[in-house]
Amino acid sequence: MEALILEETKKLRLGEFAIEEALGPRDVRITIKTVGICGSDIHYYEMGRIGPFVVEAPMILGHEASGVVTEVGGEVSTLKVGDRVCMEPGIPDPNSRASRLGLYNLDPKVRFWATPPVHGILRPSVVHPADFTFKIPESVTFAEAAMVEPLAVGMQAAKKARIEPGDLAVVMGAGPIGMVTALAALAGGCSHVILTDTQQPKLDLGASLGPVTPVNVAKESLVEIVSAMTGGWGADVVFECSGSAPALAGVFAPLRPGGCAVLVGMPGSPITYDVVGAQIKEARVEHVFRYAHVFPRALALMGSGSIDVKPLVTDTFEFADSIAAFEYAAHLPPTSVKAQITLP
Ligand code: ZN
Repeated sequence: MEALILEETKKLRLGEFAIEEALGPRDVRITIKTVGICGSDIHYYEMGRIGPFVVEAPMILGHEASGVVTEVGGEVSTLKVGDRVCMEPGIPDPNSRASRLGLYNLDPKVRFWATPPVHGILRPSVVHPADFTFKIPESVTFAEAAMVEPLAVGMQAAKKARIEPGDLAVVMGAGPIGMVTALAALAGGCSHVILTDTQQPKLDLGASLGPVTPVNVAKESLVEIVSAMTGGWGADVVFECSGSAPALAGVFAPLRPGGCAVLVGMPGSPITYDVVGAQIKEARVEHVFRYAHVFPRALALMGSGSIDVKPLVTDTFEFADSIAAFEYAAHLPPTSVKAQITLP
């Protein structure tokens, strides 16, 4: 079938790729409709690796996807041909110790699309377990459904924060993950989000998402603004979504005593944080790696209108222009958040 293949670092090919997928009894076959380009896709394209995951053979990219079911396995009762769906890209071993503990995102054997050596889904169709395929509400478009995957990261962060109704949250970093974390925090009960970045167009877009106060940390002091808004008390939750060392170094400064810092952004290399800064506030620190059990909740929030991801989809390309789409996404202008590719 035709696919977008990463042949080697910085070398993409759109063309034929032999891939045979048998339909198991608990699987569905899906025609792919929309695929979002993720930071990790770009990272593999430009660097050929993320941490221990190294691209050693040609690999199909893409893991944020929605589509239509075209075939169902004999034991599948939850889905039928014609259902509009989105897919969770990581398949754990259901019998692993991590899975049995409910931590299936941490299963060392998880097979995750477009993470070497597993192929992604920038191709016309895929076979996927029905248990990791979710029917999308009628009001939700394929473009929105392909945003469920990044939104799931924000949902996982909101879950880890254990938000209480009326909490004030800081979200550091207004990239795609910062934006969806802000949406998840608001839907999860936060009264207000303070969103930081150094790129003004991203902050302007973020400010349009709801009760969001943008703070350009190139020009303004986050700590002063949080202090002024909370009578010197601090924010209940700080979500670090930038992965940048200076942001992480200051993560506890705007936090209230007893508050929670959730580390979502992934730094490119090991960095440290201020332990004493955390101790003097007895801060709870949580970490996020992907997500578990949140796709249905993300879809429910989209379906009810509580979360609207449409403003985040800023650029759309056709499958035939996939290579141009990747070039564009690798140098994304500050006015853009998420680029997607649509298939016929
Ligand atoms: Zn992603």
